Amino acid sequence: MRIVVLTGAGISAESGVPTFRDADGLWEGHDVDDVATPEGFARDPDLVQRFYDARRRAVASVVPNAAHRALARLEGAFGEDLLVVTQNVDDLHERAGTSNLVHMHGELRRALCAGCGARPVWDADLEPRPPCPACGERMLRPDVVWFGEMPYELDRIEQALAACDVFASIGTSGAVYPAAGYAALAAAWGAWTVELNLEPSDALVPFDDARSGRAGELVPAWVEELLATRNEEESTGAPTERD
Ligand SMILES: [Zn+2]
Repeated sequence: MRIVVLTGAGISAESGVPTFRDADGLWEGHDVDDVATPEGFARDPDLVQRFYDARRRAVASVVPNAAHRALARLEGAFGEDLLVVTQNVDDLHERAGTSNLVHMHGELRRALCAGCGARPVWDADLEPRPPCPACGERMLRPDVVWFGEMPYELDRIEQALAACDVFASIGTSGAVYPAAGYAALAAAWGAWTVELNLEPSDALVPFDDARSGRAGELVPAWVEELLATRNEEESTGAPTERD
């Protein structure tokens, strides 16, 4: 059984990571156009660097929660048959123990050099502007995908969606493309789809199983079900019917 899990802001919010709120278009008091677009960065790079410097420091002080840890347990059982695709730029999945992971929107703990394209691991501040370790130019920016930019590893994600038997969407409203279309894509290729979210999202195609509540409670329960199914398959030697 192959599984793709998409995670969003909801899973990190339960660890205390402040999230962008669609409703008012503000993120920690800043207009999203000012801090999460290439145009905003061009207008006031120092403001944008300070904004992400503060977020990088804030994330360092929070810890993974039960949902992150449950997904790491799932990888312990399924290995490379589980791919976690996260829209989050924090490193809570890694710190919980997940390694087969795609950060489609980049990572706070990396910088991106606009001069040479290097993506060095970066735990320090980016303001005032330090030189790029690869080329020496002072053109580093946060390695996060802003609105209007292309997310990372889309080909790898789509290949995994085409090959998966189970697709789960966790803590994401399903409002931002391309991730918003992933459940429909996986379903079209025959996967069983599950949503674990604080409230039901406006899905393009209804999920096969939609559960509402806190990720810290829903995800460990769902993971236990999957692990039990897998143990059953192993003991009978026969795969259980997917649908
Ligand atoms: Zn460089």
